[in-house]
Amino acid sequence: MRIPFFDMAAELATVRADVDRAIARVLDSGTFIGGPEVEGFERALAATTGARFAIGTSSGTDALLAIGMALGWRPGVEVVTTPFTFFATVGAIVRLGATPVFADIDDERMTLDPAAASAAVTSETVAVMPVHLFGLRAAHPVVPCAVVEDAAQAIGAGPARGVAAALSFFPTKNLGAVGDAGAVLTDDPELADRVVLLRSHGARPKYHHVAVGGNFRLDAIQAAVLAAKLPHLARWTAARRALAASYRAAFVSAGLHEVRLPVDDPAHVYHHFVIRAPARDRLREHLASVGIGTETYYPQPLHHAPALEAVSYRPGACPRAEAACTAVLALPMHPALSRDAPTRVVDAIRGFYRG
Ligand SMILES: *Cc1c(COP(=O)(O)O)cnc(C)c1O
Repeated sequence: MRIPFFDMAAELATVRADVDRAIARVLDSGTFIGGPEVEGFERALAATTGARFAIGTSSGTDALLAIGMALGWRPGVEVVTTPFTFFATVGAIVRLGATPVFADIDDERMTLDPAAASAAVTSETVAVMPVHLFGLRAAHPVVPCAVVEDAAQAIGAGPARGVAAALSFFPTKNLGAVGDAGAVLTDDPELADRVVLLRSHGARPKYHHVAVGGNFRLDAIQAAVLAAKLPHLARWTAARRALAASYRAAFVSAGLHEVRLPVDDPAHVYHHFVIRAPARDRLREHLASVGIGTETYYPQPLHHAPALEAVSYRPGACPRAEAACTAVLALPMHPALSRDAPTRVVDAIRGFYRG
């Protein structure tokens, strides 16, 4: 039997009636932008995450961009971050004309190494941006500037500790919309106010523009769907953790010591279950041939990305991130995954190595 990497329909099926009702309510209301659905979701999200302010945005990418704009990132300033992340983290820096400075990852956690980040801080550095990768919190760096968290993959992994955090509700994230959506979390009332202003073209009041922002708004339909799904998040996170425990147990009993497992942290929310494996590409082909879907997050460290050639192209600068890119493999992991899937996936992996 096939084990797809992700199964959108199966996840949605468990809450389909609530989601249908939420969408119908928005259609009946005639209010599609802003309004009570968005405000209600923002209140529920703040309560769930422990943030003082939760501000819905059009995507996780726009949440990061709005944070950078609100903090005044501009040409000449530097933001220190990890090269082992999704491109949006760095895009938010570069699109504002600021310079991303890459510091290497911690070899165990695969998240930004706080010591390397600290060492990369200069007098031009305005922020350090750790990424809570695959659902595992990055260590909080102690630095004389702002810490902005890319928490796109880590809702539920603990409260934000930086000045602001960005969440993504891309459909496959731990809390997924039925389209693009995201949020900014912060405890700072001035920063929250600035993000709200920038989210609607800097208009205050309407059609009186006091800042250049953008359209970073969360749709009412997405807000209503997210509000319907939010009460299930804790249960889904528990399901992810149980699957992770099954993977671990299966790897131990298979004696596959050449495969490195993700850090076993009680706060891990397992957006992905990412192993590091020798002969990764051939293993991936083998698993595909027996019907098991996998992904490589991420195959290219961002300091090797041609898109950043003019700003931060430094081949060889972050050897731990480079090594991770050649070895990482994300195995099937989502709340609707069958309980015996981890054993079957690990059996197939053992088949590859032990033939
Ligand atoms: C998904 C993701 C984003 C961007 O979120 P979108 O909602 O897809 O724009 C940013 N950073 C990381 C680490 C992500 O995984």
